[in-house]
Amino acid sequence: MNLLVTRFGAAALASTALLAGTALSGCGALSDDGDSGNGRRIVAAFYPLQYVAERVAGDHFEVDNLTQAGQEPHDLELKVRQTAELTDARLVVFEHGFQPAVDAAVEENAEGEVVDVADVVDLQPFAEHEDGEEEHGDEEHGDLDPHFWQDPLLMADLGDEIAARLGDLDSDHAADFTANAAALRADLEQLDGEYSEGLSSCERDTIVVNHDAFGYLTRYGIHLEPISGLSPGAEPTPADLGDLQALIRRDHITTVFSETLVSPKTADTLASDLGIKADVLDPIEGLTDETKNEDYLSLMRSNLQKLSEANGC
Ligand SMILES: [Zn+2]
Repeated sequence: MNLLVTRFGAAALASTALLAGTALSGCGALSDDGDSGNGRRIVAAFYPLQYVAERVAGDHFEVDNLTQAGQEPHDLELKVRQTAELTDARLVVFEHGFQPAVDAAVEENAEGEVVDVADVVDLQPFAEHEDGEEEHGDEEHGDLDPHFWQDPLLMADLGDEIAARLGDLDSDHAADFTANAAALRADLEQLDGEYSEGLSSCERDTIVVNHDAFGYLTRYGIHLEPISGLSPGAEPTPADLGDLQALIRRDHITTVFSETLVSPKTADTLASDLGIKADVLDPIEGLTDETKNEDYLSLMRSNLQKLSEANGC
């Protein structure tokens, strides 16, 4: 009963930012009675974390995503309502170093359990690029590459950790969480096998992408050249573009990839200047209107298809 009331409360909150201040107090009052209401909510900071949390939680918890569909997650700003969600959540799943606003808000507001992906999965340093420039010393990401979800096996590790933490919070359903994480791992291991197999013998190994979101694909022999370095919206300098054009000609690269959630203008111009193909590779940082019926697995498979085509695999 309380659960139902709280969910309606949350829906009303979501619909009107203006009411957030008023409705917050109501929300807090409802969550005071222990395990009902907000006692069943998980907050995930962005889509791949939401996907893992939903798969592992099954029907036992509701999962909210701080990054709305169609929103670019790197420079997310939080609304008052979302800060309140962080406070009320039993479990918050975020990745320190990826979204500065979320890092600060979790630190200040999370009162439940917190899973920091950076503590759980083995993050790797940014891959080296052809031009040898240090592009990743900025404070947004630090030295480790946060885009771990391009490696399905690291997603499986996150699933196991979430299962363990949910089992602590809700021991009656611990076996379900463990089984859900095992099923997720099986799906992810299959996906990993498809990537290994699909990219094992290609005519080329370099891909040109918009921003540096695909470093974890180096495990499959892929080498990356990002147009705009780390930040999805950054404009490359003419000198950077010149270097990239030379490299594309030298390596007979067939395709320049832009990405969802960011304007394809630079990638499209580069491709048309060189008379090669422009295509879209999804960094899977979030869903959009066009991909709202997809999920992590289907988007990863669609990327694999495009990579295979571009590199002659
Ligand atoms: Zn990114």
